[in-house]
This record gives sequence, structure tokens and C-alpha cells, in this order.
Amino acid sequence: MAEQNIVLLGAPGAGKGTQAKMLSDELGVPHISTGDILRDAVAEGTELGAEAKGYMDRGELVPDDLVIAIACERLAQPDCRPGFVLDGFPRTVPQAEALGEAMDDLDREDLIVINLVVPEDEIVRRLSGRRLCRKCEGIFHIDWEGVEDGGTCPKPDCDGELYQRSDDRPEAIRERLEVYRSQTEPLIDYYRGRGTLVDVSGEGNPEEIIGPVLDVVRNRG
Ligand code: AMP
Repeated sequence: MAEQNIVLLGAPGAGKGTQAKMLSDELGVPHISTGDILRDAVAEGTELGAEAKGYMDRGELVPDDLVIAIACERLAQPDCRPGFVLDGFPRTVPQAEALGEAMDDLDREDLIVINLVVPEDEIVRRLSGRRLCRKCEGIFHIDWEGVEDGGTCPKPDCDGELYQRSDDRPEAIRERLEVYRSQTEPLIDYYRGRGTLVDVSGEGNPEEIIGPVLDVVRNRG
């Protein structure tokens, strides 16, 4: 079977994390989120975490060399051989170039790049109301899922504490959107120019979006 080497692009809050989890479950390939790897490093107090924390809290990008090393090391693991879903990487053109080189070095098939498109006012609404569960890592929204700020996870069998990411506060959201426009949006042209990018609307609920996303994966080429 062809490799399923998927990259999800889109603004912060476009739903990359949610779609990546669903794709990973559906296709049986690992979900690789550089944001999750960095947040774990911060929580564990590692050297990487100490280096990344300030950038993350301010909503800035962590330097390319750090993130490229993390992502390329992870992609070289044997469980990524049948494919992977990259969520939040690459985020700059140098990261995309490094990813292309790593794919060549590892003798991997082409990337399938999916761009989740969501209007900016919707993005801000999603990010400011987003809450995460400390236990199951589920993602919820205070307006839509009946969850309360500071409450517990609404999933059956989970009573984890809900929290707001430090970079989902208004000043950090503004900074992240600015960083997205200046550094990550150019990737859309980078991949479109290579004929590997497909736009999918990220508006609606996750169950409505996963269908068109899976269609892209299954009909590629
Ligand atoms: P995310 O969970 O993908 O929104 O990432 C959260 C934060 O982690 C970002 O705002 C950045 O500070 C950092 N980060 C995650 N992935 C990358 C990346 N590919 N390049 C630079 N910084 C990243």
C-alpha cells in the first residue's frame, strides 16, 4: 500500500489537532504534533522544554533548528514507515525544506499536504474558548460543548481537569495569528507550487470535515 505521509496546514485553531487525531485513528499511522512534543517537554522540565517555554508563552515560533531536529528524529522512527500525520510542522519555509530533505534521505514517498481553511473571526472565537483536558488530552469549547471554565472533562469515564493553554490568551492569540500570516502562510504557496496541496474547508463540526479530508488522502495522486 502507498505510504500515507500527511501534512496538515492551517492557522492556529483551524482544527489541525482534532483532524490529525481522527486521521491517525482511521489510518493507523502516528499523529506527530511538534506542539504536543514541546508542551510535554515543558511539563517534564527538560532542557528542551526550558528553551522552548518563553517562545511558546509569547505565541512566537520556537527556533527552526530545535523544531527540525525534533520532527526529523521522530519521523525516522520505525512506526512512521507506513505513514504519519504531521500537525503543526512545518511552520516555516526552512522547516518545509528540511522536511523535504529528510523525506528524500529516508527514501520516502511524496507528502499529501492538506490546508484546512477557516475564516479569521471564527479562528479567534475557537481559540479563545478552547479548553483541554489534562487527563485524556481531549479538546473542547466553552460555547459548544457545555463545558465550564475551570470544570472537568465532559467525556464519559474521564474526570480530568480542563485548562486553557497559556498561548490561547488574547495577547498570545494575536501574536500567533501574526506569526502565522508572516511565517506559515508562505508555505501554502510553497506547496501549491509543487502541486501537492489541497484546500479543505475547516468550517463545521469535526465529523463533517473528516470526510473530505479522508477523500483527499484516498484519492491522491
Ligand atoms: P501548536 O500546538 O501546534 O499550536 O504549537 C504551540 C506552540 O509550539 C507554537 O505557538 C510554537 O511556539 C511552538 N511550535 C509548535 N510547532 C512548531 C514549529 N513547527 N515551529 C516552531 N514552533 C513550533
